[in-house]
Amino acid sequence: MQSQKKFPRTFSFEFFPPKTPEGRAKLRETWKQLGQLRPRFFSVTFGAGGSTREGTLETVLEIRAAGHEAAPHLSCIASSREDLKAQLERYRSNGIRHIVALRGDLPSGVAMSGEFRYAHELVAFIRAEHGDQFHIEVAAYPEYHPQARTAQDDLRNFKRKIDAGANSAITQYFYNADAYYHFIDECEAMGVTLPIVPGIMPIGRFAQLARFSDACGAEIPRWIRRKLEGFGDDTASIRAFGLDVVTRLCDDLLRNGAPGLHFYTLNQAELTTTIWRRLGL
Ligand code: FAD
Repeated sequence: MQSQKKFPRTFSFEFFPPKTPEGRAKLRETWKQLGQLRPRFFSVTFGAGGSTREGTLETVLEIRAAGHEAAPHLSCIASSREDLKAQLERYRSNGIRHIVALRGDLPSGVAMSGEFRYAHELVAFIRAEHGDQFHIEVAAYPEYHPQARTAQDDLRNFKRKIDAGANSAITQYFYNADAYYHFIDECEAMGVTLPIVPGIMPIGRFAQLARFSDACGAEIPRWIRRKLEGFGDDTASIRAFGLDVVTRLCDDLLRNGAPGLHFYTLNQAELTTTIWRRLGL
């Protein structure tokens, strides 16, 4: 963990672009509330299938207009080179200089159609087209990406993104801090020494968390899963237990030198704000 301790801490909050007027109004309240915590930046996801692309930029511009830093995500899996070029131009002409570059996941049933297969190709493309104009974040997987052939392959593939020009990374969420510490040690051994900020998923609803975790390969440790299952429909107990577990995880990560935290807020302010206050940030 030595390499991570030298970086200033960066705190950030992630949203997805809302699809309805009600969702937009709700998100506005959320970012206003979370903005009071003065994060380094907000980030807004980008649907690889194309459904939320305009919403990503719109949401980023709305947040930026209020004086906050906001970074759009950009995924390459279903886009042509020309699409990506145009999207990058849109970001740049709107003054955006910070992006999260990803491969993306296709909605089920959609065939792979883009020109880039992996995120490192997108990072290389951004650098070739725009030099150092953008700060580029990429994704990291302390429990390894579910499609990777082996853990070692996944690490090498992570390094390809760094070698292509990424500046920093945000991890998939996890509830096992040792996975993160081990991943950082492995990165150090490969000579990767840029900030790798842990992604944090507050626990609000068990069924939703189980679904996400199955899809993205994040493990819910057995003791946490059993406990959450046991609460059944008792949302208050799920949230109370989840707050204890996630606050302790964040505290452990920060004490051991993690260079900040990136919260997957799911467009809700309450759980993230409570964890933030409990950490005394
Ligand atoms: P990659 O780094 O390309 O890796 C994908 C897989 O390919 C891995 O298994 C890797 O080992 C393998 N691989 C990489 N390069 C090679 C190679 N050259 N040869 C063989 N195998 C290779 N998804 C969205 O659609 N929109 C978002 O906005 C979004 N935001 C995210 C934000 C964060 C912080 C994180 C952690 C994930 C996000 N995702 C998002 C999900 C992400 O797109 C998926 O996890 C996706 O499956 C992988 O994306 P990646 O950029 O990590 O891909």
